[in-house]
Amino acid sequence: MNKPELTPETSIRFIRGVGEARYEAFLRLGIETAGDLLACFPRGYEERGRTVTISEAPEGELCSVVVTVSETTKPVRIRGGKTLFRSLVTDDTGSMELSFFNTPFMAKTLIPGRRFRVFGRIRHTLYGKEMVSPKLEPFAEGGELPYFVPVYRVSPPLTQKTFASAVKNALPLCDKMQNVLPESMIKARGLMSRGDAVRVLHSPRGAEELARAKRTMAFETVTVFRLALARLRSDSSGERAVPLGLKGSGAKLFFDSLPFTLTGAQQRAVKEIFSDLARERPMARLLQGDVGSGKTAVAAAAIYLCVKNGYQACMMAPTEILAQQHKKTLDKLLSPFGIKTVLLVSGLPAAEKRAARAALASGEADVAVGTHALITGDTAFHNCALVVTDEQHRFGVAQRAALLGKSERDGRRAHMLVMSATPIPRSLSLIIYGDLDVSLLDELPPGRQKIETRVVRGEDMEKVFAFIRRETGSGGRAYIVCPLVEESENSEKRAAESYFGYLTQGPLKGIPAGLIHGRLKQAEKEAAMAAFSSGETKVLVSTTVIEVGVDVPEATVMLVENAESFGLSQLHQLRGRIGRGTRRSVCILVNGGGGNEAADRLRIMRDTSDGFKVAEADLQRRGPGDFFGERQSGEFSLAFSAISDMSVLRETDGIVKELRAREGEKEYAPLFAAASRFLQKTGGSKTVN
Ligand code: ADP
Ligand code: MG
Repeated sequence: MNKPELTPETSIRFIRGVGEARYEAFLRLGIETAGDLLACFPRGYEERGRTVTISEAPEGELCSVVVTVSETTKPVRIRGGKTLFRSLVTDDTGSMELSFFNTPFMAKTLIPGRRFRVFGRIRHTLYGKEMVSPKLEPFAEGGELPYFVPVYRVSPPLTQKTFASAVKNALPLCDKMQNVLPESMIKARGLMSRGDAVRVLHSPRGAEELARAKRTMAFETVTVFRLALARLRSDSSGERAVPLGLKGSGAKLFFDSLPFTLTGAQQRAVKEIFSDLARERPMARLLQGDVGSGKTAVAAAAIYLCVKNGYQACMMAPTEILAQQHKKTLDKLLSPFGIKTVLLVSGLPAAEKRAARAALASGEADVAVGTHALITGDTAFHNCALVVTDEQHRFGVAQRAALLGKSERDGRRAHMLVMSATPIPRSLSLIIYGDLDVSLLDELPPGRQKIETRVVRGEDMEKVFAFIRRETGSGGRAYIVCPLVEESENSEKRAAESYFGYLTQGPLKGIPAGLIHGRLKQAEKEAAMAAFSSGETKVLVSTTVIEVGVDVPEATVMLVENAESFGLSQLHQLRGRIGRGTRRSVCILVNGGGGNEAADRLRIMRDTSDGFKVAEADLQRRGPGDFFGERQSGEFSLAFSAISDMSVLRETDGIVKELRAREGEKEYAPLFAAASRFLQKTGGSKTVN
C-alpha cells in the first residue's frame, strides 16, 4: 500500500513513530491529526548550556561536556535511606567526578569506556571539579548538539522521546504551512512565517531564533484573540440592562446586618458597583482583590440590591467546593432578608438539580450559585439581571458570554461582575477579560496574621510532620496538597489515595484526617470539607481542588508538596487558604527536586506576601501562560503560554483598530477567518447573538 501523502489532516495513526500502538495515547491528548500534533508546542525547553571541555568548564554555570567514563563506584547507602555512587570521567583536557543520588540503576550504565554527553552545573572543589546529579545522554560521534531540547506535555505510555520523534516526522508539513498574519505585517514587525515559527518551536537551533519563533506565534495568537474579543464586544455594544436602583432597597439594613464593618476598599467598591447597577448600560466590572480581601461580601451586596429590585442574580464559581461555600455564605448573609438561594452543580443528585432548575425558571429562587452546570443547556432563569463570576480567570470569555446569554430577556442583558484574586497588570486583564472597569480591594480586613512561608527539601519532612503533629495537637488544622501527578484523572485519584494512606499510617498516624480529590462525588467532597471545617478532621489531604477560595479560619498550616511545579500565583492562592484566623499560620513549600530556577521562585514566595508583587514576579519569569492555567488553555492555544514577556501584549495594543480598517482586503482574510473560527470553536458568537 502506498503511504498517504502527509497533510495537516493526515491521521496521527499514519505518522511514523505513532502507529496503532500509540494511536490511542495521542487521541487522549486531543491529538488526532498531523496538524494537531504540530500545534502542540513544547511546554518548555531544557537548556543544555554551551558545550565546553572539562578544563574550561566555568564554575557554577550550566554547561555540557562530552566525556568518557573512567571508573564507577558501587552504589552505597548513605544517610536518610539514600544511595550514592560516583563516577570518574575524562576528556582530552582533564577529569572530573560525577555524583548521583538515589539512582543506583544508573551505575550500570556508566561503564568504563562509554562516552556520554553530561550536562549540569560544574563545581570546583578542593579535590577537583565535580558535577552533582548531571543529566546524561549517550554520545554519538558527529551528533548534533542542540542547545535547547523541547519538553512536551506527555503522559504515559507516551514519553518525551516518542512524542518528539512523532513531531519530527510531521515537521515537513511546515514547508507548506499558510500564514495567518499578512505578509506585510510579518515583515514590518520582524516576525517569521508561520511554518518557520512552528518548525523552530519544535526544533530550535539557538536562543535567538527560538525567541523570534515564540514571538511570532504569540503575536499571531494574541492578535487573533483580540480581534475575536472585539467582535464579541461590538456584537454587544448598544445593549441595555435593567437599572437596579438603591432607593427603597433597604441596603442600610443589609450593611448593618453584616458581622463586620466593611473596609474602606470594600466600601469604595460597593459604591462603584451600585452606581454601575443603577444605569441602563450593562455593568462590566472586574473586582480585583488579593486572597482574603473580602470580595464575597461585596458581591453579596450587589446580589442583595439586585434581588430587592425584583430580579434574580447568579454567581458562578470554578469548583464545586467553592460554589458550595458561596452558597453557605450567601445563605448566611441574605436569608435573613427572605432571599432564597439554590445550588446548581453537576455533582448533585438528578432530582435536586431538576428542582433547582425549576425554582430558577419559575422565579421561586432568587439566587443561583453554581459551577459550569449553570451554563448547560437546560438551565433557564426567570429574570436574571446580575451575573457574578468568581475567580474568573478560570473561565473563558465564551463561558462568560454563555452565562450572559442565558440571562438575557426582552432584549436586556444582565449586569456583570467578575471577581479575581489574581492581580494582573492592566494590559493582561484586557486580554483575559476584555475591556472591563476595575474596582480594586487594596486593603485586607483588620487583624489578619502575617503568614510565615518556609521552603524545605524532602529531607526535612520528618521535622515538618512533627510540626504538623504539634500544631494539630494544639488546636490548629493543616491542609496538605498532594504531590503532583501528570497523568490521567484516575491516576490523580490513585496518587491522592496512596499518599493519604502513607500519611495516615505513617507520619500523621492517629490524627483525624480527610481526603479530597477531583474524582469524589459532590456529596463526598462536601462531607470532607464540612468535617475539616467543623474540626472533626484536623488534616485535609487534597489535590489542588482547594486551591481557590475555600475559607476555614482555623486552618493554620498549608503544606504543598512539589511546590516547584506550581506557578507562583497558584502558590499564592494556596497560601491564601490559611492566615484567616487569629492564630499564627505557616505555609510550607516542599521543593521536590526543582533546579536553581525553581529554588529561586520559591524564594520569592518566602520573601513576598503581597499578591501583586508575586503576580509580577510570576509574569516576568513564566510569562502570562500561567495566568490562564492549563484548565482553560483550550481557549488560548499553547502558543500563548510561550509569550515570554509582556512585550507582545503591549505591541498588540491598538492593533484591532488598525486591522478593522483593513477588513475585506485579501491579504487580511486569513486573519479575520481565524478570529471567526476562534469564536465558533468556543461558542462565543452563538451565545451572544
Ligand atoms: P476573598 O476576597 O478571598 O474571596 P472572602 O470574601 O472569602 O475573601 O473573605 C475572607 C474572610 O474575610 C471571610 O471569612 C470574610 O467573612 C472575612 N471578611 C470579609 N470582609 C471583612 C471585613 N470587612 N472585616 C472582617 N472580616 C471580613
Ligand atoms: Mg473568594
